[in-house]
Amino acid sequence: MRDERADMSTPAPFDTAAIRKEFPILEREIRGKPLVYLDSAASAQKPRAVLEALQNFYQSAYANIHRGVYQLSAEATELYEGGRDVVQKFIGAQDRREIVFVRNATEAINLVARTWAEENLEAGDEIVITALEHHANIVPWQMLAERHGTVLRVAPIDERGDVVLDAFEALLNERTKLVALTHVSNAIGTVNPLEKMIALAKAQGCCVLVDGAQAVPHRAVDVEALGCDFYAFSGHKLFAPTGIGVLHGRLPLLESMPPFMGGGDMIESVSFERTTYAAAPQRFEAGTPDIAGVVGLAAAIHFIEGIGMNAIEAWEQSLLEQATASLEDVAGLRLIGQAREKAAVVSFVLDGIHAHDVGTALDRSGIAVRVGHHCAQPLMDIFGVPATVRASFSLYNTPAEIDALVAALNETREIFG
Ligand SMILES: *Cc1c(COP(=O)(O)O)cnc(C)c1O
Repeated sequence: MRDERADMSTPAPFDTAAIRKEFPILEREIRGKPLVYLDSAASAQKPRAVLEALQNFYQSAYANIHRGVYQLSAEATELYEGGRDVVQKFIGAQDRREIVFVRNATEAINLVARTWAEENLEAGDEIVITALEHHANIVPWQMLAERHGTVLRVAPIDERGDVVLDAFEALLNERTKLVALTHVSNAIGTVNPLEKMIALAKAQGCCVLVDGAQAVPHRAVDVEALGCDFYAFSGHKLFAPTGIGVLHGRLPLLESMPPFMGGGDMIESVSFERTTYAAAPQRFEAGTPDIAGVVGLAAAIHFIEGIGMNAIEAWEQSLLEQATASLEDVAGLRLIGQAREKAAVVSFVLDGIHAHDVGTALDRSGIAVRVGHHCAQPLMDIFGVPATVRASFSLYNTPAEIDALVAALNETREIFG
């Protein structure tokens, strides 16, 4: 299946039936109905290729990595370090040493806050984020502000959910040391015009961190072309296991940064008088890492590349169009976020029915959506809602599933009157 699809760059026939067969969990029934999984923005399901890679690794190549002189350890090390090469190519990084394995996007951002920012920012220095950010790209900067007196500035969005670029630009000044932006909003799907925003930030000499948690599963990402300094994402939204994530950092920056956590594997030499640290990326990978997670992540990336990111994006965009058009016909439904460019996420509220009640009603039809503030409470405040219902689409979703969602929403509407 993989070879036939390689290099598919036009939105030609997308064989969802074949793709769905690769995800065993999609055969499940929930309450006697076929599972309709519309929560991939929270976490994506795992294809057979990833499940098998984990199984094979634990069954026949498992050992701790680095320093092992025996065959098994050498094999495991090769798989782990090979995973670094796979990630490097996947996001277009210049050097394999720019790939740091962490637990998730949250840890990647905290790592930068605790090392680079700790070292380079002082009281009064400013950090600019946007009103679209996930809590993972807000709270670490607030914590830094508490420790160091740095100042957090927030670029506003308009009623569609697009960042107001003039206002963003106006926030940048000689005190701005860091611009930390989400690539794609998890709550309302806005795709930020990163090239423009990074160019503006760079014109002011700012360091730029991109939260790519919602971008890497849905569009081709090239960190070199983007020109950012740091790029963070999680494996579990990319069809890989939980517990593995990536921080990409420009090599000169990583090399200049102090360690994050101390322990084994991140040192060059240790004595009770003095310890010296390993070079990047090992300096930031203290302790036994998630070796199996890296094996699973590499398998997930191969799986995606076998289908083709452009084909995946085109498929998801067609689902987004269908969903947007048919949800607009549901009585009393208000879409939250209609940005110019969106990823395949629809966030909405139903007039007079609490989002949690909608979620519970949909669950009765086997439909899994997320309800709540989506770890973006400030963003919910801007739209004047405490919570939304969010359906998010992935490569394994189908037009029939969107029809099922719409039918269940109409039913819910009737029940609640
Ligand atoms: C999910 C998400 C995060 C956090 O990811 P974790 O895997 O929970 O660390 C950060 N930013 C965005 C935009 C997300 O969607």
